Amino acid sequence: MSKSNQALLEKRQEAVPRGVGSMHGVFAETAKNAEIWDVEGKRYLDLASGIAVINTGHNHPRITKAVEEQIGSFSHVCFQVTPYEKYVELAEKLNERAPGLSKKKTIFLTTGAEAVENAVKIARAHTGRPNIVSFSGGFHGRTMMGMALTGKVAPYKVGFGPMPGGVYHVPFPAEILGVSEDDAIAAINRIFKADAGPDSIAAIIIEPVQGEGGFYVASPEFMQSLREICDEHDILLIADEIQTGFARTGKMFAIEHAKVEPDLMTVAKAMAGGYPISGVIGKADIMDAPIPGGLGGTYGGSALGCAAGLAVLDIVDDEDLCSRADEIGSRLRSQLEAFRQSDLGIGEVRGLGAMIAIELVDPKNQDQPDPDRTQAIVAEARKNGLILLSCGVRGNVIRFLPALTIDFDHLDEAIAILKTVLEKTSR
Ligand code: PMP
Repeated sequence: MSKSNQALLEKRQEAVPRGVGSMHGVFAETAKNAEIWDVEGKRYLDLASGIAVINTGHNHPRITKAVEEQIGSFSHVCFQVTPYEKYVELAEKLNERAPGLSKKKTIFLTTGAEAVENAVKIARAHTGRPNIVSFSGGFHGRTMMGMALTGKVAPYKVGFGPMPGGVYHVPFPAEILGVSEDDAIAAINRIFKADAGPDSIAAIIIEPVQGEGGFYVASPEFMQSLREICDEHDILLIADEIQTGFARTGKMFAIEHAKVEPDLMTVAKAMAGGYPISGVIGKADIMDAPIPGGLGGTYGGSALGCAAGLAVLDIVDDEDLCSRADEIGSRLRSQLEAFRQSDLGIGEVRGLGAMIAIELVDPKNQDQPDPDRTQAIVAEARKNGLILLSCGVRGNVIRFLPALTIDFDHLDEAIAILKTVLEKTSR
């Protein structure tokens, strides 16, 4: 009997806890570049890219080949037991590409959250200080420290406390949320005075563009101000590039837009086009602070992930994915702007490169977010063969993360579906 989404959903509900959500009730069977086919044979255009992982498209033949070749040699020996060359080669290449002139070193792990955990460990070991400042609306993962750093309670922290200590949140600057850059800087200074002196702060962690929080972009000036505060107090600046990295914003790393060198940078997601690997890239002396044996993990820097990661770097260069991100972004943005101007309930179009979002608001009151319509748009788009992702602290943002290798015909087709859906759901 052929498979059905409904039957699989029922099995899923019985076998898998409700805590792990799925935005779409359709089960993927195959995928290629920016298209996914479900188990019933229905085709979808994919503007979610597995949450910013498939910058190089589903099943890029060069990544598949690199992984197959690696499997032909070995799948796992563990870098902590018998190291292998591809780990070192990938580290060398990322050290070269990381922003700034300081000598860099890189450690590989498995997930984004694990990269964040390790960045905090390294920052504490280097500075000898306990505390970390992070931003409201920020997302840094679902492990204990990642969750503590994340600046949104529901659904991420509900029922999971107590959180690890030593975390202080300040508001992320976003005009539409009523927070100016001065407000955010003042909040940091307030923490220094009221809660934890700067000499107790190991690091400030920030996403150069907030991902789950709603694609709010930190301006170059704001990033530069953070760099100055960090320099003044010997605090480390950690850029969480897990969602923004690997050409997504039109640069290899989003912080390059600000011309700021972070002390540490967390990477994951798109770095290996769908194979689970993450990393912390940082200034060499800082990275060497933890004692031998202090860092690691059985699967950290898996050989398959390293092989895929090397292929991704080649593809980013050979297919000029940074320029393509800009091209995709401007094509998408101009259409979305046109929709905004034709009263389709879009309050703002924002983003950087091919990391673009729309904010859905009540057309009669632009200050009123519309999370219900946001969900209606995501559901209706799926019915029409388009996979979208929502996000945002107010649940009213739709984010667009197309593969940077998407055919422009497919992008135009996706935009046309979106237009129909926006018109159909417009109030
Ligand atoms: N940091 C950021 C900025 C992210 O976007 C994410 C994932 N959405 C994470 C950390 C956590 O990554 P992972 O889900 O791989 O643990």
